[in-house]
Amino acid sequence: MIEETIFSKIIRKELPSDMLYQDELVTAFRDINPQRPVHVLIVPNRHIPAVDDVTADDEAALGRMFSVARKIAREEGISDDGYRLVVNCGEHGRQEVPHIHMHLLGGEDVGPMLSRKNRDHS
Ligand code: 5GP
Repeated sequence: MIEETIFSKIIRKELPSDMLYQDELVTAFRDINPQRPVHVLIVPNRHIPAVDDVTADDEAALGRMFSVARKIAREEGISDDGYRLVVNCGEHGRQEVPHIHMHLLGGEDVGPMLSRKNRDHS
C-alpha cells in the first residue's frame, strides 16, 4: 500500500485547506494552485491511490464525488455555464498526488479537452 499523501492530512484537518464540504465518504477543498477561477478537488476520505486501485467497495464514495461536484458547482454559480471534471491516473495521466481526486474546473471557458495541434507535451 502506498503511503498516504498530504490529502489525508487535509481530510483529517491536520493541515489547513479551504474546505468546502465534508461528509463520511468524501471531502472537497480548493486547489492550492488554481488553474481556473473555480478549481476544487473532491477526494474520497479513504486513501485510494489511483483509479487503477479502485474496487467495488469504493463505488459509494466515487459516486458521491459526482453528487458533491454538482452541489459545489451550483454553490459556486457555475452550473448554468458548465464546467469540467478531470481525474488523472498514473504517469501518463500526469497524476501528481497519489490519492484519487476529481478536479472541478470552471468559472470561464476551460478550453479544449486536449490540444489537437500541439503535441510537444510541454
Ligand atoms: P494531479 O496532477 O495529481 O491530478 O493534481 C494534484 C493537484 O493537487 C494539483 O492541482 C495541485 O495544485 C493540488 N495540490 C497539491 N498539493 C496541495 C495541497 O497541499 N493543498 C491543496 N489544496 N492542493 C494541493
